[in-house]
Amino acid sequence: TMQIFMPLNFLGFVYREIRGALANIENLFALLGKSSNIVDNENAKTIQVIEGEIRFSHVNFGYGPDRQILHDVSFTVPAGQKVAIVGPSGAGKSTVIKLLFRFYNPTSGEIYIDGQPVSDSTQASLRQAIGIVPQDTVLFNDSIFENIRYGNPTANDEQVNQAIEHAHLSAFINALPKGRETKVGERGLKLSGGEKQRVAIARTILKGAPILLFDEATSSLDSQSERAILSAFKEIAKGHTSLVIAHRLSTIVDADSIIVLQDGCVVEQGNHPTLLKNKGPYYQLWNTQQKVNTQDD
Ligand code: ADP
Ligand code: MG
Repeated sequence: TMQIFMPLNFLGFVYREIRGALANIENLFALLGKSSNIVDNENAKTIQVIEGEIRFSHVNFGYGPDRQILHDVSFTVPAGQKVAIVGPSGAGKSTVIKLLFRFYNPTSGEIYIDGQPVSDSTQASLRQAIGIVPQDTVLFNDSIFENIRYGNPTANDEQVNQAIEHAHLSAFINALPKGRETKVGERGLKLSGGEKQRVAIARTILKGAPILLFDEATSSLDSQSERAILSAFKEIAKGHTSLVIAHRLSTIVDADSIIVLQDGCVVEQGNHPTLLKNKGPYYQLWNTQQKVNTQDD
């Protein structure tokens, strides 16, 4: 989970200062997050993303030297496909996304996008190529409209409105007393986790990056907002490579491939029907969740 604890008025200040200078929201994460430790190599190249294939090759990683989180993680997300990562809480799912976005460098191993090592690419070009819908979205103390435009500061009002439409946010925004001019954040509207994710989806639609990362909200979303988020995400995933972290397996049964992560290890991979037939870890996760769902209903 990306957690940035900053006074929102300070964020607002930073936002105004750097808005326009930076092309996307993730650069702000980079400025304020731990990834400021990561510097581009001297000969870092601009990454060229044409197909959008992602490949993890023998990636090991720990946040500190005393505890390894990812163990020899290898997998490929073929260009244009939707791949899901599932597994228990703490398995390392969000860490995979943070490494791909290069908030951190692997201890060993390499991550490639279209065959180009992420560690050899400039962070600016990498972040331009990837749209991310994080578990916790940072909102600025500004109107909801400007919060969405942040995905692409050069977008015109028409484009922002289209993104709002595709993110299934129009009904929500229109019902607000001041509509799209409603301030969010510190002194304004408080958004739920699901609403924040839809704001992030709208930003990501505006950004138009070839690779999409989606870290599904863990918070107990009601099934209606979950459905709204998923259909919004499907909208933008068309024709893109996407890596989706799912907490509810029912949301990723349609994925081209599902990676099961346990204690930082890939223990299984395949599509939903194949993994069910395997009667392995995925089958167990699935049965556990089915039982929980039945109890809920
Ligand atoms: P998941 O997304 O599968 O729930 P994470 O990738 O967030 O799991 O976390 C994997 C492990 O790494 C957890 O044990 C977590 O406590 C630890 N972890 C996550 N972020 C940090 C961090 N910034 N510093 C130290 N440990 C972390
Ligand atoms: Mg997570």
